[in-house]
Parts: sequence; C-alpha cells; structure tokens
Amino acid sequence: MRSTSGGPRVLLRRLRETMAEQVSAQERLDKIVVLIAANMVAEVCSTYVLRVDNTLELYATEGLNREAVHQTVLNAHEGLVGLVASEATPLNLSDAQSHPAFSFRPETGEEIYHSFLGVPILRAGNTLGVLVVQNRAKRTYVEEEVEALQTTAMVLAEMIASGELSALAQPGAEPAARHSIHKTGAILSDGIALGHVVLHEPRVVITNYIAEDLPKEIKRLDAALAKLRADLDRLLERGDVADGGEHREVLEAYRMFANDHGWSHRLHEAVATGLTAEAAVERVQSDTRARMLRSTDPYLRDRLHDLEDLGHRLMRQLVGQNHAPSREQLPDNAILIARSMGPAALLDYDRTRLRGLVLEEGTANSHVSIVARALGIAAVGEVPNAPGIADPGDAIIVDATSGSIYVRPSAEVEAAYGERVRFRARRQAQYSALRDLACVTKDGQPIDLMINAGLAIDLPHIDDTGSSGIGLFRTELQFMIGQSLPRSSDQLALYRTVLDAAGSKPVTFRTLDIGGDKALPYMETVVEENPALGWRAIRLGLDRPGLLRSQIRALLRAGGGRSLRIMFPMISEVAEFDAAKAIVERELTYLRQHGHTLPERVDVGTMVEVPALLYQLDELLKKVDFISVGSNDLFQFLYAVDRGNSKVSDRFDTLSTPILRALRHIVRKAKAANRSVSLCGEMASQPLSALALIAIGYRALSVSAVSHGPIKAMILEVDAAKAEAAILPLLDAPAGSVSIRHKLAEFAEAHGLSL
Ligand code: PEP
Ligand code: MG
Repeated sequence: MRSTSGGPRVLLRRLRETMAEQVSAQERLDKIVVLIAANMVAEVCSTYVLRVDNTLELYATEGLNREAVHQTVLNAHEGLVGLVASEATPLNLSDAQSHPAFSFRPETGEEIYHSFLGVPILRAGNTLGVLVVQNRAKRTYVEEEVEALQTTAMVLAEMIASGELSALAQPGAEPAARHSIHKTGAILSDGIALGHVVLHEPRVVITNYIAEDLPKEIKRLDAALAKLRADLDRLLERGDVADGGEHREVLEAYRMFANDHGWSHRLHEAVATGLTAEAAVERVQSDTRARMLRSTDPYLRDRLHDLEDLGHRLMRQLVGQNHAPSREQLPDNAILIARSMGPAALLDYDRTRLRGLVLEEGTANSHVSIVARALGIAAVGEVPNAPGIADPGDAIIVDATSGSIYVRPSAEVEAAYGERVRFRARRQAQYSALRDLACVTKDGQPIDLMINAGLAIDLPHIDDTGSSGIGLFRTELQFMIGQSLPRSSDQLALYRTVLDAAGSKPVTFRTLDIGGDKALPYMETVVEENPALGWRAIRLGLDRPGLLRSQIRALLRAGGGRSLRIMFPMISEVAEFDAAKAIVERELTYLRQHGHTLPERVDVGTMVEVPALLYQLDELLKKVDFISVGSNDLFQFLYAVDRGNSKVSDRFDTLSTPILRALRHIVRKAKAANRSVSLCGEMASQPLSALALIAIGYRALSVSAVSHGPIKAMILEVDAAKAEAAILPLLDAPAGSVSIRHKLAEFAEAHGLSL
C-alpha cells in the first residue's frame, strides 16, 4: 500500500472524528476530501453528489480548482465520473485522458492528472454519488487502495443519506438520496394507502463502522461464517428437504456460496480496511446489490439474489437473530416493503396496522397477492430495487389503482392523495349502504352476486358485503400458505368454519387446484415445460386419489346435516367428471357405513375452463348439478396467452367477440339443460365486463370481495333487457374491431352506469 499516513484504519478513525465535529456540512466535506487525499497520497480527492435532476455535482475537492465546487455539474452518464455512477462499479485508470469516456471540464483544471480512481458512493444498492482520487503520475491504484476508497465512500453515503447536504443545494438540485421518489410497478391488490415504511427484512442500521480491535472483528466474522455454514448443513440434513425438490436446490446453492472463497475473501478484505464485521458485510452486500440491479441475465440475477439473502443471514448472525419489527413496533398505517414474500409471512403481521405492500417481485396471480386482496391491503409489485428505495419510517404512498409508489412525497402529492382516499371512503360508504338492497337490475332481473374466498380471513366479507354466498372457495389456499400438508382434521375444521360463517348461504367448495403454477412448498415439484397445461388440479387428483379422497371426506363431514356444493377444477372430458364424482359417491358410502351424519344434499359440479369442454356441454350438463365458468383459465387457453406473463397477458382483450361468443355458448347450453351456471373468474369483478356478462345472459357472478360493492352498484342501475338488446348483436356484427370494450363503455356512459 502506498499510503503513508497510517493506512485506511487511521483514515477511518480520523473520518469518525470529523463526523463528530460541530462544523458546517461544507466544512466537514472539505475536511474529508483533504483527509482522504493525504491518506491515499493522492493529489486530488473529489466528491460528486447525485442530484434529483439526475446530474452529478462537484460538492468538494482537494486538488482541483476550488471555484469549480458547486459549479461543475455532469450529466449522469457524462465522463468517467458518470461512468462510475451509471455502472455503480469502481474505475481504475492509469491514463484517464485516453479513456473514450473522458470528458474535459476546463474549470476544474484536471488536465494535468493522469491516473484516476473513482468509486460509487452506494447505499442499499443505490448510487448516491462518486468519490474520486487522482494523481499526476501514470499509475494504477492497487487493490487495497480501491478497497480503502470504497470503505471511505460508505461513510460519505451515510452523510448524504442523513440529509445533511441538502442545505448546500440549489432548489430543484437537491441530493437524490433523500428526495421524493416516484416508481411504478404492477397492481397486485387494488387500493390506496398512505403510511410509513416498514422493511420486511430491515437493513441493519450500523452504528459502528470502524473496528477498534481488528483481530476481534476477524474472529467475529469467522465465527458468524462458521455458524452460517453449520446452520445450512443442518438444514440440508433435515428430513423434509433431504428428498430433493426446489427448496433443497436453493439451500444447496446457498451452501455453495457460503463456502465460496471469493465471497469470504471479499468480506475479510473489507474488514482488513478497518471496518467492523457488520460494516464489512454491508460493504459487500452493497456491491452485490448494485451488480444485481445492473444485471439483465435472469440466471445471474437469481444467483445474486441468493448471495444477497446469504448476506442477510450473515448479518443476522452478527447482530442478533431477529430484526423483524415486533407487532408493538409496527407503526399505525404500516406499509411493508420486501423483495419477495410468501403469503404466510404477510399473515404474520398485525393486519389492523397494515395498509400497504410493495414488492420487488410478485405478480397479481401470486399467492401473496391473493392474501393481500383478502386482507384489503393496497399492493404493488415489480418495483425495481424496492427494499432500497426507502428507509424505515419514511412517508410513502401506495397507489394500487395506477401502480404508483411515492416515497417521501411532496406536500402537494400527499394532499391530493389524502383527498382521493377520502373520496374512496365516501364511495365505500355508498356501497355499504347498498348492502341490504336486493340485488336486482333496474328492470327487475335478480342477479345472484357471490364472493370468491379461500381463507378464514375472507369470511367476514360474506356479511359485510351482503353477498348471497361464496361462489368459489379456492381450497388450495389453505394448502399453499402452510409449511406442511394440512392434516385432514385441519381441513375439516376450516370447512366447518366456512359453512358456519355462511349460515344459510351456499358455499361452492372447489377441490384442490394445485400443481402447475400453484406449487406447494413442501411437495416434490415436477419440472414441467408448460405447467399451466401440465399435471395439475383434477388430473393430479385423479392420478393420486389419496389426497382428493381425504379432502372430499373432510368436505362431506363438514357438510354433515346441511347442504354442500363440491366443484372440480380443470375438467377436460366428461369421463374425468364421472371419475371424480365416483369418489364422492364412494366417500358417502364409507361415511354412511361408519355412522357419520351425511349432508342433507350434495350438489356436484365443475368449472368450465378448458376449451375442449365447450364441445361436450350436452353430455356434461346431463351429469352435473351446476357449472361455473373459470374465465381466467378459459381466456388463457382460448387465446394461448400465459395469464401470469405480463408481456402477453394484456395483448388481447377479454371483452372480445371470440371470448364473449364462447361465454354465450356456455350460458345458452346451461339454460337449455336447466342447469345453474355462474362465472367466477376475474372478469366478473370488473364492472364493464360484468355488464357484458349480464347482457349475454349470466345471472350468477362470483366476484372478489372488494369488487362486490362496485358490481352491485352497476347491477342496480342497469336495465338488463336494454343491455342485451344493445350488446348481444355486437357479438355477431360482421366487420369492426374484435374488442367491444369501447362500445360497452359507450353504453355505460349513455345509461349513466357507475363504473
Ligand atoms: C379461473 O380460472 O377463472 C378461476 C376462477 O380459477 P383460478 O383463478 O383459481 O385458476
Ligand atoms: Mg382456473
């Protein structure tokens, strides 16, 4: 190491003293660059800060012209400094001026300096600025010097993030670090929430960066690493992961990283520059995160995610186990931010305080989204670097009507959203007022409006919406949120609770729709090329009847003495329905023989969601008691678009003639056969689509609980006969657009319907 003034540890100590001094922010920065330059034997040390307008402003320098401070402003991608910022990675050059990105700013006087070392100032994966040292001589900075400068940059990152520098900024050119952020993502659960940030995996706030006793820090790091490895070994030996599956692969990848010399070497190097063990973990984490954000290769991103998770585990080893905020610490109006999250983890939080959820991953069809909707929490997903956009306690607005997130919003944005929340609350109150009104159209057609459910937390919605029952109870949710297969006694208990809560209102229980994209964490997964078309739902149920049999038994026992409705998912041929119904018959016989109270009646039906069934309706309808259309899957299969793939899922319109003709075909056939028919896919939950469904003849809809109010409001206002007269002919209109959305909207507008 070429430094003459005691190396990085002495530098860190001096920096700490400087941080504690009672001086102005500018004086402190000026002192810091002088200290770094002296310590690193550099002729120049400069600090550039990233501003809200995405430019980099020179905030302090030792060596360049002082007049350039606060005058030199570079575009985010301009020059070598811009390159360091945009790549979020160090740049070490012996002859900077020959680099193609070099951009000369005469006011700085930097033409005489040849060598250049720039490092990003990083915090939680975000670039807050750039720290640079330069020398006249053409030299390459050694690895230790790069390390030392990165370590020093951490101290500056804390200073920038604290907001101390804001006082030095021109209005509109403040440091980006603490400024308002607006991001957009995908809507997972409708709603608007104003609140304060809670990080699901809180970043550990490191109060002590600088090692007092280096050998002790190395020992702490080694002990934490050893413990981490031993824990992973133990986990891998446990019976429930020993048999393979995805879970095991993840843990094995973790173990590989935990034993990776490169990772451990980088951690040790960071400690060697004078950091405490936890600060070293944060340094290495910050690099990993920045690399992850830059990477477009999904495989590499996954591996970096693994590495990041491992870093979190290591950090927890160092600072104590549990850092998730306890229930008491959860603020009112908590908005949870996480990279990804399982449904069970979300249910662990106190729902009375939870208002919103922001995820870096997660699609609308993921399980955590289903739970968020059941809890009535506004949720937005696919927000890049979500855990890094805010600090705990920051004000945040989640607008899950448009998919927007505002971190540290301006007073104007906050006021505007406050108004929107009040408006929505008034609308909600209007919907509540409709609760006890009969659900009939303006021209007196009764509509059976039910809700979809799947968890005990959904049950209060039966009453508070005034719905006529549960049109689809997705039994797989109980299986998906647990850590292990629910025992049949747990299934029985849930089904009884559901029937008790529904009272005299009907509940349609759908048997397990697992497999494909609905994987159970504890079950061996079969890797399939096309899971949606694969071994799932009733196919799995009939091939492995043990699971289906015990579920049906639990349902029949729960329905003892009352009416019960059982529905099968993904039936493709009538013979599958026959086979599934035969299991119900066998179980009834078994229960009768064993003296159990049987249900008073059992209606058995099927989902219509596989297109092949459309051409077997005559045969099918003779055998079933009812059918319910699963428009989510039916649309996915009719249009051949993966419902979970945002690149294609919006490519075609559900309100298009091919879909509506198929739906009309089903409702007509069912009516002719005198069988009840409902529709329980997402379409029914959209007022405009629900209008189309009523126009083509549907009189039973099952919707998400939050949509019950808006759909009912539309139903009370619509004249079904007029809608039919206006809309039905559009399905067969010769030319024109395939989508009739526009025409539906015109009808709704002309008839003053609330949508
Ligand atoms: C459907 O496919 O429309 C449906 C209701 O089932 P799920 O969304 O659970 O697949
Ligand atoms: Mg389906």
